[in-house]
Amino acid sequence: MEPQNREQSTALSEGASNGSNGEGKQPSSVLAPTEAPPRDRRKKPRIRETPPTPPPPPRLDDYEPLIGKAELDELRFLAQALHGKTVKMVNSTAVGGGVAEILNRLTPLLTELEVATHWDVITGGNDFFEVTKAFHNALHGGAYQLTNEAREIFLLHNEQNRARMRFDEDVIILHDPQPAALIKSKTDNHQRWIWRCHIDLSNPHPEVWGFLRPLVEQHDAAIFSSQAFARQLSIPQYLFYPCIDPLSEKNKQLDASFIQQVCDDFGIDRSRPILTQISRFDRLKDPLGVIQAYQLAKKYADCQLVLAGGSATDDPEGAVVLAEVMQAAGDDPDIIVLNLPPWSGLEINALQSASTIIIQKSLKEGFGLTVTEALWKGKPTIGSAVGGIPNQVIHKLTGALVHSVEGCAYQIRYLLTHPEFAEQLGKNGREHVKENFLITSNVKRWLLLFQIMMGIARQ
Ligand code: UDP
Repeated sequence: MEPQNREQSTALSEGASNGSNGEGKQPSSVLAPTEAPPRDRRKKPRIRETPPTPPPPPRLDDYEPLIGKAELDELRFLAQALHGKTVKMVNSTAVGGGVAEILNRLTPLLTELEVATHWDVITGGNDFFEVTKAFHNALHGGAYQLTNEAREIFLLHNEQNRARMRFDEDVIILHDPQPAALIKSKTDNHQRWIWRCHIDLSNPHPEVWGFLRPLVEQHDAAIFSSQAFARQLSIPQYLFYPCIDPLSEKNKQLDASFIQQVCDDFGIDRSRPILTQISRFDRLKDPLGVIQAYQLAKKYADCQLVLAGGSATDDPEGAVVLAEVMQAAGDDPDIIVLNLPPWSGLEINALQSASTIIIQKSLKEGFGLTVTEALWKGKPTIGSAVGGIPNQVIHKLTGALVHSVEGCAYQIRYLLTHPEFAEQLGKNGREHVKENFLITSNVKRWLLLFQIMMGIARQ
């Protein structure tokens, strides 16, 4: 290894580099928390075996050190005109998935701003969720045979929910297709109904979309997560980017000692550059392409590669992809493949925080929250120009956009050998997230939209 690279890695990584020296490292092994890892590789298994109890949600003032008082004052000012108004959010799951995560934070923050917000979850049997999952996949462009039975199951469960729910609030927001038929409870009063679509509708299954569209068009507005996901509709459409919570386990500032401990536990050498991709083991995340890019770049600049993803045990395709990744990694001791349980927010945060460069080399992508998380941590980020990644990675300003393995390898090499430029990208990236993709920006968008919907503000 060249001494120059050692210096760069120290300059770009957080905290002191007193980590493992890599001695006794096993070649690219998968570290599943349930398996006993080699003793010398992972001294103390730190991953919890069961999900931890979630901490209480943060209060608005907790965000002040991150976004400043002026931003919070703006939220309070925008909320004033809405004091006493009521909002209902409806989705189909209380836990798991990005929507539940956002609603978990959004509901208490709006309520603290005196816009009383209630979150309701629709219920349904297995038949309903099988249909809605099939709709979800079909709306993402998958093949599907829409039957009358599926239509009936969808409508029946929505009817049952409609019968047990009340809709007295000033604004009702239905999230995603599952509760879309609750719109039938809309009356001709001043109440406003909004459809918030979190999924990519750029290439929907024509029949499924043809079935849902008349329901969607009964709303007063629709919200999409990216320009590319929007459809031609007869109602106004708004763009709301997804967001992250800077105070969540995955995004809060960690102690340098914890970051070091996680790296030690996983056998990651902090004295040398660390490239990381955090992703489910899914072909569309192109982990093999990441390995190829790392191998190309490594001819010119020393580095390690961390590929960390979710548990593959309940996903047959995930297990196959993981096996392919292991094979491609071969006996390279500098490729570290981690198979983490779903409650590894702190560990993922530590891996991202310890990284010299973060990569998201997806072939297809939704918004790419891993990119948001990387940028928020001020990391030089390389992302493919797909899905919502170009909204976040503005080439040469907030990161590097790539279109191929070779392009990715080139950017790795360039950023490793231009640490000041890399650092500037990271700083800009964090500002970009602060401005656009934090939960507090999301609260602001909701407040503005409520004002528009209630005729308090004009567009
Ligand atoms: N993630 C995780 N564990 C993993 C892999 C990913 O918690 O093993 C998280 C990641 O940090 C991010 C989210 O899952 O918050 C993935 O969102 P993204 O939009 O990047 O991709 P998706 O998996 O939804 O396609």
